[in-house]
Amino acid sequence: MKAWIDHVGIAVQDLAQALAFYADVLGLHVEPPEEVASQRVRAHFMHLGPSSLELLEATAPDSAIAKFAEKRGPGLHHVALRVEDIDAALAYLSARGVRLIDTVARPGAEGARVAFIHPSAAHGVLVELKEPAPKVGLFRTPTRHALGGLELITLSDGFFRLDGGAMFGVVPRTLWESRLPPDDRNRIPLGLRPLIVRGEQTMIIDAGCGDKMDAKSAEIYGLDRAYHLDHALTEAGLGVEDIDIALASHLHFDHVGGFTTRAAGGRIVPRFPRARYVAHRQEWEDATHPHERNRASYLQENFVPLLEAGVLTLVDDGAEIMPGVRYRRSGGHTAHHQVVTIESGGATAVFTADMYPTAAHVPDPWVMGYDLYPMDTLGFKRAFAREAVDREYLIFFEHDPSIAAGVIRESGGRRTVERII
Ligand SMILES: [Zn+2]
Ligand SMILES: [Zn+2]
Repeated sequence: MKAWIDHVGIAVQDLAQALAFYADVLGLHVEPPEEVASQRVRAHFMHLGPSSLELLEATAPDSAIAKFAEKRGPGLHHVALRVEDIDAALAYLSARGVRLIDTVARPGAEGARVAFIHPSAAHGVLVELKEPAPKVGLFRTPTRHALGGLELITLSDGFFRLDGGAMFGVVPRTLWESRLPPDDRNRIPLGLRPLIVRGEQTMIIDAGCGDKMDAKSAEIYGLDRAYHLDHALTEAGLGVEDIDIALASHLHFDHVGGFTTRAAGGRIVPRFPRARYVAHRQEWEDATHPHERNRASYLQENFVPLLEAGVLTLVDDGAEIMPGVRYRRSGGHTAHHQVVTIESGGATAVFTADMYPTAAHVPDPWVMGYDLYPMDTLGFKRAFAREAVDREYLIFFEHDPSIAAGVIRESGGRRTVERII
């Protein structure tokens, strides 16, 4: 059996004291904690080259870590061996009569699959087998693309996580989990990808979650803004003052959170100081009159300050926002959700927002559970996909963690996305 030391697990009773040693005295970098709900434990990893130390903190009195620490005090808890195929490893060990705690793998921290070998079989040591999560390559590099006379620049405002089941609606996990592997809280990694369109003017379409999210929500959504829109703009040679127009596909927090920012003194002000902000008239009505089902997505602080600052323009279906750039109503996700078509020199790009949130959503029935009117989404997707294939649209996927844009190809009744960016 091929195996590597993955990590050594240490049970702690007093986390603050443990961090005072490992983080402050040893100076090791401690990753943000990860809750492993199934084991009622919070894991704090310190990555040391190819191996790690893991501080284990019980989250409930009946957790195995709490019982361990109660009986023996804090200390070494387990050694984890990384294996390539945990199912094969378990079958191999069972066949040799090795006593196992888990005969089948279960979800562990960081999206891994884990199983434990009984200490009696390993000479007094609790041994964990761990098959790491398949890596989703996260893509964040600002990338330019010429479309006729326009320049498109895809940017990143970081990454976040949403429930995989909610992201794929009626599609069972067995079908989507290989495309976007979920973590042990069933969340899948997602991108936040605003798009810059440069012609005579400079426009930004959507602006990610922004910087106003409170710590609790940021934890729930696994928000990772270590690299965010300001970094991306700088890398692209732009600043917030260069934006002439900020256009909203719709007013959900993960699309327009970055339209406003907290100024000194706590007042919320427009993020792009020179920009005219454009939203759809009826989407604005819905966002400012939320109901129980959509209230959590429409955070008033993201858009009401734009009205107060006098920088808001409301437009209708099909409006031309700047030459070649138009709203096109898809509905479905919200009643007035818009995709944005960008046309120049005979080429077409479409910023599809939450209609095709990721490239995995290209099959017509792969519709999000979040959508308020899923049958409208389905109807729009059917017609749109036909057009996109025939006319080779460049499609922008706002939430895909690894593909910013691609072209939909069809052969033998099967659709695939050819990655362009
Ligand atoms: Zn949305
Ligand atoms: Zn979204």
